[in-house]
Order: sequence, then structure tokens, then C-alpha cells
Amino acid sequence: MLRSVKGLKDILPQQASQWQHIEMVARTMATQYGFSEIRIPIFEFTELYSRSIGGTTDIVEKEMYTFPDRDGSSLTLRPEGTAGVVRAVLEHKLLDSPTARKLFYLGPMFRHERPQAGRYRQFHQFGVEALGTDDPLIDVEVIVLLWQFFLTLGLMDLTLHVNSIGTPDDREVYIQKLKEFLEPRLNILCGNCQRRYLTNPLRILDCKVPVCQKSTEGAPTLINYLSDKSKTHFQAVLDGLSALEIPYSINHRLVRGLDYYSRTTFEITSPHLGAQSTIGAGGRYDGLFHALQGPPTPAIGFAVGLERVTLLLSEEISSKKVPLFFVAGFGVIGKPQAFKLLHELRQAGIRADTDHKGKTLKALLRSADKLRAEYAIILGDDEVNSENAILRNMQTKAQEIVKLKEIIQRIQTGY
Ligand code: ATP
Ligand code: MG
Repeated sequence: MLRSVKGLKDILPQQASQWQHIEMVARTMATQYGFSEIRIPIFEFTELYSRSIGGTTDIVEKEMYTFPDRDGSSLTLRPEGTAGVVRAVLEHKLLDSPTARKLFYLGPMFRHERPQAGRYRQFHQFGVEALGTDDPLIDVEVIVLLWQFFLTLGLMDLTLHVNSIGTPDDREVYIQKLKEFLEPRLNILCGNCQRRYLTNPLRILDCKVPVCQKSTEGAPTLINYLSDKSKTHFQAVLDGLSALEIPYSINHRLVRGLDYYSRTTFEITSPHLGAQSTIGAGGRYDGLFHALQGPPTPAIGFAVGLERVTLLLSEEISSKKVPLFFVAGFGVIGKPQAFKLLHELRQAGIRADTDHKGKTLKALLRSADKLRAEYAIILGDDEVNSENAILRNMQTKAQEIVKLKEIIQRIQTGY
């Protein structure tokens, strides 16, 4: 039997209404907060990601789906959304806006990772990017949108972690101090971190391997090495969150390993997801436009892993019930007349269905139950001859004779 590729998941009909609900809340809330949707391609030139995400990250080192196009150019399935959004913004000159440019996206991302609960090779993200301002209040807006998105979905026990990683200049001094602190512990760090010590020491702080976490306990904290300007920005973000009564916790381990990341970083975690506890993460990336040869443009955004969100929601809570009318037609003239009525119901915007396999009334009513129809409209030869139909409440089994030509109006005015 043919099977799906490892790490990829089908979203089956019983889960789809939950996805629709999450996506609807994402679209509605992003729009409320002033973000417009952008839809970018699913693959780009590999160079976009290697230049923007950075060569020393997990994504570029080992997670990208890269393949040669027929003309030999190297393409990569998008592992995240920010690079593509920034590329599109530069290509279409979307920065010519007098206000900040605020964009959001929804869609699949691809990373070659070890599949496990909450970690897949194709997964979906909802993300936003606010481009063109470094006012700390835009940081607050973006963080609050993320927080409120989860609250609106009804998620509980969440923690908002925030940190500031300052500017590249701030970090230069700090990284030196961090390396001095780690040097005597270097031989007990995990293999990855021994390598990171040379390429990207900041990332040792967020390594999940216990011995590395232990080794970085008591390490100097980045916050103490921030310039006055970075400190003021961070304090303004914290004050903004406090003013809106958004609870946060400062997390010194929350770092990003790339030069173009700067100042605010944040992450929201849930205690109910085991190892994959982060459901949304983001931060400021003031240097990214420059890395992609654009004009210097301050920017901040977040991305939410939607599979992890679905793991925290029960399947039912989401689907808003639209009543289903099952048309049960049988007999020589009943059946074709019922098929016509089905068409008219749908044209009138009513959710209606039938079962072509059911030949007798008994079988049809069984199908109506299986499809969880609220009502059945029964139409046999006798009913057609008297220009009536029978409206049956599938739950109470109460039946009522209704004039055939009045049935749509009856349904539209509340059955
Ligand atoms: P992690 O530390 O879990 O690997 P990350 O730092 O790689 O996360 P980001 O690139 O910041 O994650 O992506 C934002 C969000 O997307 C994550 O917080 C997570 O919810 C989700 N996410 C990332 N990778 C995966 C994946 N392979 N499968 C499912 N969701 C993912
Ligand atoms: Mg990852």
C-alpha cells in the first residue's frame, strides 16, 4: 500500500473544522490588529534562506528540503515565512507606505527534522511581520496579538517569556564573557554545543540537553551588557505589557543566534506539550533587510506552530454547527422531485444532502442519522401528488406536513 512520506500528516475531515476555526481566528484577529494577508510561494531560491536564516542555524545546517531545478538552479521548500515575506516586500516595493507595513501569512512550512509529537516535516504556521518602525509599542502590539490569539482560542496555563538580546555591538562584549565562563566546562558540553562554542556560542544558552543547561547556570546574563539605548527599549516594551496587564516572565536563555536579530525576543510556551512546549515565537530582526540588500528597515514578527495549537484543543470545541437537511426522496416521481428540491435548497444557501445509495425510506432515514442531519425532508410519490413534503425532526422524530412550495421559506424563517 502507498503511504504518506514520513513526518507528513493528513488533516482528515474530522479535524478539518478545527483547522478552519483556528485559521478563521488567526485571520480575524490579525485583521483587527491592522495586518493584511500576504501569500508567498512555497519554494524560493535556496540563496534566500541561506542568506537570511543564516548558515549556523539548525534550519540551514540540516533541515532544509533543497533540490535542483531542471535548469540547475537550487530551490528550497520554505522552512519559515519571514524570508519570503521580506523578499516579496523588497521585490514589490511595499515599503513605500507612510505607516508601518503590517503583514500576516498562513501556510505550510517544510523542515527535515526527526518526527515526533508536535514536530513534523510539513507543518503549518501563522505569522505576522511589522516592518518599518522600531517604536517599542509595535513590539508590544505584536506580542499582545500573539497572546490574545491563544487566549481567544481558549488555551490555558500559557507563559510568555521575553528577553532582549541587544544589538550586535552589545553582544560582542557579552559573547566574550560567555565564552570565558564556558571555557572550563567545554569538555562536558554536548557535541553540538562544543561546535557552537566556536560558531555561535549564544545558542548554547538555549540548548535543551540537560548537561548544557546545567553548565550555563550562573552564566553572565546578556541583559547586563545592553547599551543604554537597548535597555530603554526593553524597559518600554515591559512597561507596555504591564500597562495592558499582560503577564510575562523574563527569560535570560531566550536568544537568537544571528547577527540581524536584535533587541526584543519572545516566546509562548505551554506545560501540556512535553518537549515541544513552544507554540509561538518571535522577535525583532532589524538587520535582515540589510542582509537581503534592502534599505535598513527595523522589523519584528512572530510565527505560531499550528499543529502544536491543535494538540492543545479538543476536536469538538471548534466547529460551529450549521443544521443539515437531509432530503429523503423515493418512488418514481418522488426521487427526481427530491433531487430538484435538493438543488433548490442549496441554491437558497441551506446546508442539504442526500444519499443516492438509499433506496427505501427506512434506508434513507438511517443515512440521515449517519450524516447527523437535524431534519429530514421526506418526499415520496404520495407527497408529490399532494404537493406536500414531510419535515421530520431527526432527534424528536416529530413529523409535520409542509406545503412543498413553502418549504424553503419555512426553513429560512427558522423551520
Ligand atoms: P523548536 O525549538 O521547537 O525547533 P524553532 O525555534 O525551530 O522551534 P521557529 O522557527 O521559531 O521554531 O518556528 C516557530 C514555531 O513553529 C515554533 O514555536 C513551533 O511552534 C513551530 N514549529 C517549528 N518547527 C516545527 C516542526 N518541525 N513541526 C511543527 N511545528 C514546528
Ligand atoms: Mg527547530
